Amino acid sequence: MSEEKKVLRKKIEATDKMNQYMADYFYELNDASKTGAQKIAWCTSVGPAELLLAMGFLVHYPENHGAILGSTRMAADLIPEANALGYSPDICSYLTSDIGAYVKGITPLAKAFEGIESIPKPDVLVFNTNQCRDVKDWFAWYSKKLNVPLMGVHTHRNPTDITDDIIPSIARQIENLIEPLEKISGNKFDMDKLKKVVALSKECSELWKKVLETAAHQPAPLTFFDGTIQMGPAVVLRGTQQAVDYYKILLKELEERVKNNIAAVEGERFRLYWDGMPVWGRLRAHSELFTSLNANVLASTYCNSWIFTDFDPENPFTSMAKAYTELFIVRSDEAKEKYMKRMFDLFKIDGIIYHDAKTCPNNSNNRYGMPQRLEKQTGIPSLIINGDLNDLRLISDEQTKTNVEAFIEQLEENK
Ligand code: SF4
Repeated sequence: MSEEKKVLRKKIEATDKMNQYMADYFYELNDASKTGAQKIAWCTSVGPAELLLAMGFLVHYPENHGAILGSTRMAADLIPEANALGYSPDICSYLTSDIGAYVKGITPLAKAFEGIESIPKPDVLVFNTNQCRDVKDWFAWYSKKLNVPLMGVHTHRNPTDITDDIIPSIARQIENLIEPLEKISGNKFDMDKLKKVVALSKECSELWKKVLETAAHQPAPLTFFDGTIQMGPAVVLRGTQQAVDYYKILLKELEERVKNNIAAVEGERFRLYWDGMPVWGRLRAHSELFTSLNANVLASTYCNSWIFTDFDPENPFTSMAKAYTELFIVRSDEAKEKYMKRMFDLFKIDGIIYHDAKTCPNNSNNRYGMPQRLEKQTGIPSLIINGDLNDLRLISDEQTKTNVEAFIEQLEENK
């Protein structure tokens, strides 16, 4: 490919406000951890956070910490610490880098937020296996290490349809958490509080969906790489007023861009879809690579994973069970392919990037013939990038660059 242009994507002004909300969140957890003023639950990213918030816990999400370890490029030095404890280099590199960081007594939060020295100490660990088994194993290690109770929800994996056989059993498992959580928190369960939190989560989710769907506009006002940053409140602050307030601000900015045809990637020529995990330590490099080729990676299954349209405050347990089981990552390839075809149409996609993340088979969808099947049905070409979410030793930057450039040339020929 001819000489490379370096074009940066357009900055989102609301981000400073988001950083404030995120800082407040980390400081609140840190204070509670030091003073014991409020109990702390650790929860998996698509676990029953609403119940925990309603019962008065502050919630820490270890996957969020894992992603920060990835984006700060600390993970590769930490993973061997967990390997030495018997956790294979082939399993989730969020798990191995997070446990490695704990063993070494370090956290990137200390560098980002003055006064924070460590991750918050948990009073309880709550998982949902909807995304993978790794989260349970991950929390089980901390449970033993810190002598903290472990509990959670076991979700049916890979269903095509979410039937009435599935939902009641998940809803019951969530309800069964109430009694032990009451003992740990010292608070009585209050249905009205839960309804209020579910209503806030629903509002957050609907706003986040609208934010992501602004990218259906041509040119798109945001990129997948923005999405991976902007999703912070949807992950760690859903169920709170702050998340709702933030996404109203962000949506306004993006709608303004849509109205004025302001592109996130100047001269947008190719519209791409990203499937799988981001490569956290290469967000900027990947953004610059695609942007320099006038390609906007503008939609993804990853950022969409925090859209929970099924939340219903009048039916909190059933609707939480449904929302947390309808997730893309839980479903069969048949259901995933149906969903992706809808996304390709909505976002007017020219090409698809599949990230084959070595340590996350759960969120790498290229391994059982999906790219070939979808290409045959839609005619949209795809490219598989080999890499990882956190372990940068599994990435070849040169190979990625060469493959992406060749893919864009192919798309150019097809135009
Ligand atoms: S889904 Fe993948 S990245 Fe997320 S916790 Fe599970 S194995 Fe790790």
